[in-house]
Formats: sequence, structure tokens, C-alpha cells
Amino acid sequence: MSTAGDVAATAAARVRFVLANTSHPGNIGSAARAIRTMGFRRLSLVAPHSFPHADAYALAAGALDVLDEAPRTATLGEAIADCTLVLGATARPRGVALEEIPPREAAARMLAAALEGREVAFVFGNERTGLSNDEIMLCHAAVHIPSDPDFSSLNLSQAVQVLAYELRIAVLAGATASPAEAHVPATADELEGFFGHLAGTLDAIDFHKGRSPRTIMRRLRRLFLRASPDTREVRVLRGILADVERTARIARGD
Ligand code: SAH
Repeated sequence: MSTAGDVAATAAARVRFVLANTSHPGNIGSAARAIRTMGFRRLSLVAPHSFPHADAYALAAGALDVLDEAPRTATLGEAIADCTLVLGATARPRGVALEEIPPREAAARMLAAALEGREVAFVFGNERTGLSNDEIMLCHAAVHIPSDPDFSSLNLSQAVQVLAYELRIAVLAGATASPAEAHVPATADELEGFFGHLAGTLDAIDFHKGRSPRTIMRRLRRLFLRASPDTREVRVLRGILADVERTARIARGD
């Protein structure tokens, strides 16, 4: 049996909060404080516009360790490469069809995955533009805080606070992972390798015939992200793609 302390420690060790393309350093500091007050410590910064910055340190109000330990990457892909559950926080419904889950359920899923030993991430977008479509495509599902539809956008660090709070409540409730039937999904990095391979194979067999590869790839991404294949399944799928490519080469006579 896990004690409440174990659950909290595991969640803090496995959950990261990723801020993508943050414009205002003050928001980075406020986000650090927000997660620290809820018992978390892992902040990741993707291409922040200004960091390190005095405003970040001023607004972190003592959560300086969170700022000092925050890894910085150039792209979101790098920040979540080893994650098997990535939930993107969005202020409004997006054009990209992605499963949308409410904060409480998102927190429960995050915690369950963390307790299975998986690396998991909440991702937050830029203050003005939110998450780009390319960033959203890296997420397994979207989380929307049910704000007033006529005024739906929270301040970035306040959105971080709400989701960190929901996760804290889940931790305190001692929500435990469903008895693990040991399904460990492939990492984001492995899935990206598969998607790149799939796109190349579809080109090689002239699947698109003038239609938009982008649209079909979005649909296929959605399908495979929902299915959540494990490492071995991704390897089998890539083996099939390799054979398809070989057959296409033979058919072309090269
Ligand atoms: N104008 C932007 C809002 C950006 S707010 C847009 O419409 O997308 C900065 C970030 O805070 C968002 O990218 C999102 O990650 C988070 N956020 C703000 N309001 C939110 C809400 N209601 N639900 C979930 N996340 C929200």
C-alpha cells in the first residue's frame, strides 16, 4: 500500500509543467510559485522570450529552486520527448480535433500514469497566441478549464495554478492507479519517429494523389495517439512500413 507521502513524492517526481514560448518572465516566476505551493517542482521552459530575468525571480516568491532547476529546450518536442502522457491546456476549443478532457479527469489520469512510473506533462502556451497547432499536435489530449466562454482566457500562471491544484486534490485523495495491467505506452519521441516513418511511406506509395498530406496525417496522429501503442507495437508498425516501402521499391523497379 502506498502512503499519502509516497503518492505525493511520486507525483512530484514524474509530473512536469511545460511552459511553451512564454513572453513575460513574471509569468514564469508566478508559475514556479503556483506549482511549488501545490507540492510540485518540475517546470520546463521551451524557448522563453526572456529568462533568466529579475521579474521571474521576484514573482517566484521563494520558489527559486524550481526556477534554477527548470530545463530549457528549443522545442516542445525536446521538452516532452520521454513522456507517455502529454496534456495541452487550451483556453478555447481548437480547430485540431483532439479529445478534450476536463481538469479533474486530466489530473486523475496524470496521477494514475505517474504512479505507474510514467513521465507525464501538462503543457501551456504563449500568453497571446496560446499553443500553436504544431504544439497541440504533440499532445495526447486537450484540457480546458471551464471558464466563461465569452472571456475564456486565464492568465498563464493562473491556468498553471488551477491544474496544479486539481492534481494536488487528486494526490490528497490518494487516488491510486487502476491495478496496473502494465500497459506502458511508447514515448512521445518513439511516436514521432513512427509518424515521420508513416508520412514517408505514404509519400512513397503515392497515397495522397493530390489530397492534403497534412489533413490525413492529423487524422492518423489522432488515431494512434488515442490507441496509445507501446514500444513493441510501434516497432511492429514500423516493421510493416519498412516492408511496404520495400515492396513499393520493387514495384517501381528500383
Ligand atoms: N489567447 C490565447 C490564450 C493564451 S493564455 C488563446 O486563446 O489560446 C496562456 C495559456 O494559459 C494558454 O495557452 C493555456 O495553456 C492556458 N490557459 C488559459 N486559459 C485557459 C483555460 N480556460 N483552460 C485551460 N488552459 C488555459
